[in-house]
Amino acid sequence: MDTMSALIFHKPGDVTVEEVPIPKVGPGDILMKVHATSICYSDIRVFKGEKKATSGVIPGHETAGEIVEIGSKVEGYKTGTRITICPILACGECYFCLLGKRNRCIKRVTLGYEENGGLADYVLIPEQLVKLGHIIALPEGLSYEVAALTEPFACVLNSIESCHVMPGSSILIIGGGPMGLIHVLMAKAVGCPQIIVSDIMDSRLESAQELGATICVNPQRESLKTAVMNATNGLGADAVILSVGNPNAVNEGLEMVRKQGYYNLFGGFPPESVVQLDPNRIHYDEIFLTGTQNATSEQYVRACRLLTAIPDAGKIVTHTFPAAKADEAYNVRLRMEGLKSAVLY
Ligand SMILES: [Zn+2]
Ligand SMILES: [Zn+2]
Repeated sequence: MDTMSALIFHKPGDVTVEEVPIPKVGPGDILMKVHATSICYSDIRVFKGEKKATSGVIPGHETAGEIVEIGSKVEGYKTGTRITICPILACGECYFCLLGKRNRCIKRVTLGYEENGGLADYVLIPEQLVKLGHIIALPEGLSYEVAALTEPFACVLNSIESCHVMPGSSILIIGGGPMGLIHVLMAKAVGCPQIIVSDIMDSRLESAQELGATICVNPQRESLKTAVMNATNGLGADAVILSVGNPNAVNEGLEMVRKQGYYNLFGGFPPESVVQLDPNRIHYDEIFLTGTQNATSEQYVRACRLLTAIPDAGKIVTHTFPAAKADEAYNVRLRMEGLKSAVLY
């Protein structure tokens, strides 16, 4: 048996399950038998043509499995080890890599976009990734399905740390999709007594409440600003996270962050989005406006450990599919059904 089932991205709107050769392991590579790969909203953005990926690539950057083959020159790894990966192929030498910010590497490529990722029976962990040490052994007892969430949890760890969210902080999360809800879980784990979530879908607000949000607002029915100001003595939230890729929502979030508070544009926007905003709001109120994208290697390591301390983490995955139906995992996300979907191999 030298073929495997894989999902192939051909072009926007076109992903198919196919039989392809199992990758050959070079002297510096490691082969992982995939057990679980979850679908990211960025995979959906690639599908919609909003974000680029190489034609013919196997998508999937949120993946966990076990080491089944090790290249002849690789040392320090054992077959059978349960792992997840940081899918960032960084050069290790540029200014950002030297700063420890491999997610900002100027030569960065990422498994699942430019190189083959985890929506397949096997994924080749290339030599460069092995050298970077982007292979994280799973803590005992952490299931593959939850371990595959290391990447999105690392992204959220980067988000809340960039916003200096601390025990006692108030946080407003605009958008109750999977990434917004991971912010809820993380804010709860960190010790935020006020976790405010806004979404126009009531089903998502229900999930937010179940996962630890303290105030849930549907802005189509009530004023989000009033709710936030009431909850924060009229100050605004210490941190505001925009977890929707809607440029029209940028100003709304800016209104609800307190003076000297942090505002993170967490979700990617459609290309060529333009937003007008009041620079004096940022100047006079000393707002820290930032974006975050992906995470540092170190945040991946901590996110993987942190998953064991968040018992509800697995609730983010509501739909699972077998390898042969990997494309259906995309369709449920496109239809906005449930939360995250995952493919089990
Ligand atoms: Zn992701
Ligand atoms: Zn670099």
